[in-house]
Amino acid sequence: MTDTTVEGLIIDGQRVRASDGLTFDVYDPSSGDVLATVAKATKADVGRAVQSAQAALESKAWGGMAPAERGRILFRIGQAIREREDELATLESRDNGKPLRQARTDVQVAARYFEFFAGIADKIMGHTIPIGPGFLDYTVREPIGVSAQIVPWNYPIQIGARGVAPALAAGCAVVLKPSSEAPMTALRLGEIALACRLPPGVLNVVPGTGSEAGTALASHPDINQLTFTGSVDVGIQVAKMAADNVVPVVMELGGKSPNVVFADADLDLAAQGVANAIFQNAGQTCSAGSRLLVQHKVHDAIVERLAARAKAMRVGPGVSDPDMGPIISKRQLETIEHYVTVGTAEGATVAAGGARPSDPALGRGFYFQPTLLDHVSATMRVAQEEIFGPVLSIITFEDRDEAIAIANRSQYGLVAGVWTRDINTAMAVSTRIKSGQVFINTYGAGGGVELPFGGYKKSGYGREKSLESLASYTQVKNVCVKFG
Ligand code: NAD
Repeated sequence: MTDTTVEGLIIDGQRVRASDGLTFDVYDPSSGDVLATVAKATKADVGRAVQSAQAALESKAWGGMAPAERGRILFRIGQAIREREDELATLESRDNGKPLRQARTDVQVAARYFEFFAGIADKIMGHTIPIGPGFLDYTVREPIGVSAQIVPWNYPIQIGARGVAPALAAGCAVVLKPSSEAPMTALRLGEIALACRLPPGVLNVVPGTGSEAGTALASHPDINQLTFTGSVDVGIQVAKMAADNVVPVVMELGGKSPNVVFADADLDLAAQGVANAIFQNAGQTCSAGSRLLVQHKVHDAIVERLAARAKAMRVGPGVSDPDMGPIISKRQLETIEHYVTVGTAEGATVAAGGARPSDPALGRGFYFQPTLLDHVSATMRVAQEEIFGPVLSIITFEDRDEAIAIANRSQYGLVAGVWTRDINTAMAVSTRIKSGQVFINTYGAGGGVELPFGGYKKSGYGREKSLESLASYTQVKNVCVKFG
C-alpha cells in the first residue's frame, strides 16, 4: 500500500487497503474534526484475515514455536508499548477523547497485559489422572485456534490487549476487529507486534463496521473462538451467529454497577471513590459505578461532597488533560441528554450538571457536564438502563437488606462497590451481591490485569483478565495410554 494518508488493515503481516478500496473517517470527539482515514474491512478482507490466522497456526514459525519463545515475543511487545507511551496515549486521547493521564494509564495497563501473559506462556500445563495400574492418563491444554475478537471504542488499547495477550500466550492466532469509532491504537498494536517479530498472520487487525466486518467475523465458519466486548443487544446477535458454527464465545457486556455507601463509611473516601467510578472516561466504562446506593442518614452529606466535586471538574479536550473529556460521538451525547430528560420526567432531580457545558470554546465537541440525578427510585429507567455517560443515579436505602435487594434489582451484574467500616456489613454485602467483582472501600484496582473480570446475568459470561482467561483460549485434550 503506497497511499500513506489511509491507515491500512493489517492482514498476514502487511498493511493493505480494503478489497474494494473504501475507507471511513475517524473523528476527534473534542472538536468533531477528522482525525484519520482508515481502510474499511470488507467481508472478503475478514475472510483473508481468518485464512492467514489459520495458516499461521499451521506454520512452523508460530505453530511450531516453543512456548518460552512466545513468551519472549509477548514481553517485547509489552516493552515496546511502554517505550511508545507518549505517542500511544496522545493518539488514544485524540481518538476516544479521554484525558491524557487516563490514556497513559490505559497504555500502561495494555503493556502490563503482555508482561503478565508473557510469563505464563510456558506454564500452561495439564494433569495426570490416576485411573489404575497399566494406564497413564494425562491432559494437554492446546491452543483453541483462531480467536476472533470484537471490541468497543471506550478502552481500545486496553481491551485490545486484554484479549490478544492471553490468546497469543496460549498459542492462538487472532483476528481483531476494533470499533469504527476509535480504531487507531488497535492498528498501532498490530504494527508493534510485527516490529517485535510476531510472525505474519498471528495478529490481524481489521477495522470496519459492525454490520459488515463484525458480522463477517462473528459468522465465519473457520474461527474457533470469539471474544465479544460491547452492548447486550449486539452481544446477543453475535452469540447467535457463533452458535450456528458451534463456536464458543466470551461475552463482556454492559453494566449498571452499584456503589453502596453505608452511614459508617469514611465519607470523604467514599465520595472520592464514587465520583471517580462514574466520571472516569466520562462514564463510558462498562464497569462504571453508575448507581449510588446511599444510606438515608448520610444522603445529604454524600450528595454535598459529590456535587462539590462534580462542579469543580474541568471539562475539555482530552489532550489538554482535563478532569473529564468529551463523549465519543454526537449520537452518544444525544442519548445521554435524552436519559436526563427521562430521569427528570420520572421524578429525579438534578443535583449537579444535567446539560452540555456553556463554554463556547467547547461548542464544536461532544461535551456533557458531570451530572448527579438525585431522588431516583430503584425501578426508574435511569436506575435500570445503561446510560454510558457521566450521569450518576442516586438512590437511598434504610438498611443492609434493602441495599442488597436494590443492588440486585438489575438485569446486570458486572461490578459492585461497598463502603463501610463494619467488616460484617462488608462481608454480608459482598456475599449476597450478584456481580463478577466486588470492591470493598475501593473501586477498581488500577486496571486489575491480575483479577478475573466478567459478568453475572446480562453483563455476560466467561472471564477475561487473570489466569482464568486462559480457559477461553485453550482446549483440553485427554490422552489415555495402556501399557504393560
Ligand atoms: P457495540 O455493541 O455497539 O459495539 C461493540 C463492537 O461490536 C464494535 O466493534 C462494533 O463495530 C461491533 N458490532 C456492532 N454491530 C455488530 C454486529 N451486528 N455484528 C458484529 N459486530 C458488531 O458497543 P460499543 O458502543 O462499541 O461499546 C459500548 C458497550 O460496550 C457498552 O454496553 C459497554 O458496557 C460495553 N462494554 C463492556 C465491557 C466489558 O468488559 N464488559 C467493556 C467495555 C465496554
